[in-house]
Amino acid sequence: LAIKKQNNVHSNTSETLIKKSLGVNKSRSVVSKFVNPSTDNQKKDEVKNESTFDDNPYLKNIDPKMVEMIRNEIIECKNLITWDDISGLEFAKNTIQESVIWPLLRPDIFKGIRRPPKGILLFGPPGTGKTLIGKCIASQSNSTFFSISASTITSKWIGEGEKSVRALFAVARCHQPAVIFIDEIDSLLCQRSEQEHESSRKIKTEFLIQLDGAGTSDDDRILIIGATNRPQELDEAARRRLVKKLYIRLPDQQARKDMIKKLVGSENHVLLDDDLEKIASLSSGYSGADMKSLCQEASLGPIRSMTFDMINKIEADQVRPINLQDFLSALKIVMPSVSSEDLNHYVTWNDKFGCSD
Ligand code: ADP
Repeated sequence: LAIKKQNNVHSNTSETLIKKSLGVNKSRSVVSKFVNPSTDNQKKDEVKNESTFDDNPYLKNIDPKMVEMIRNEIIECKNLITWDDISGLEFAKNTIQESVIWPLLRPDIFKGIRRPPKGILLFGPPGTGKTLIGKCIASQSNSTFFSISASTITSKWIGEGEKSVRALFAVARCHQPAVIFIDEIDSLLCQRSEQEHESSRKIKTEFLIQLDGAGTSDDDRILIIGATNRPQELDEAARRRLVKKLYIRLPDQQARKDMIKKLVGSENHVLLDDDLEKIASLSSGYSGADMKSLCQEASLGPIRSMTFDMINKIEADQVRPINLQDFLSALKIVMPSVSSEDLNHYVTWNDKFGCSD
């Protein structure tokens, strides 16, 4: 399976394209055939290469059905996400660049004492860009991006959990450099409890074994990224292995302004710099995802001021531009999704375990 990489795609189109490929992957069931979104010619090469992969020693003793199931989780990475697509978070971006991206690109330099961490943890409120960063890391390091939610491992793979975890790492080894992004990692690596099922305990043990094994040799280029909104649920074993723990915080005023600029930039609007500043200041406490909802809501303002009959007849370029008032109205409808109480938990955990920021 050849993963083709495509450079220099304009960042405005990047999210749409990634979303499309995500949609394609999500619509496939676990048992359906792997469908690679590529041209026919590419497919021929891929079939050839796929059989080469099946002979790969890493896949020895791995059930081919599992391999196929894992391949269904592969998201083809086309170098579509750039750091510019992620507003704010300068500290996290710089740390990741130095400790993760460069080592993946230049393993010959980053070896021995310079060897990168096998795993990193991105923690913080929902909708702050953790998944976006995962995709960006894969894009920028020309890696194959495996994205899976821990609840898929613990629920959908139930019964075959440990085998699936083993298969996941085996397939990732075939596709090096590889980035394995595990969302909601807390549900996989949570603290032991009385009610814990035998099957989840086995999955967890296998995951830790694989995590320890990945990247053991200097040639291994596999990075595990765990993302969580509940870092306090992680146990000591998980904290120790996910060496770099980066707090992915709510966007500050400048980042919020940047987001609004990007989100409405391609739409017809009459917002001045002062207006953007005002909206950014009024949206304090909003996450990146909240900012997106806010802009979507405001963009409907011009439509809402029309009757159905007008909407039916109007030329698209006659729709009035989005203005400050649309945002002021939207701010009354779209509320911040993260409470200040939740924020305190992240701050405390960051003080205790996070990389300084
Ligand atoms: P998380 O994984 O932290 O829950 P996501 O990365 O899925 O959040 O973010 C959800 C959406 O919110 C993104 O697709 C993006 O549109 C927007 N978003 C969140 N954070 C940022 C950010 N820092 N810069 C730009 N967009 C962001």
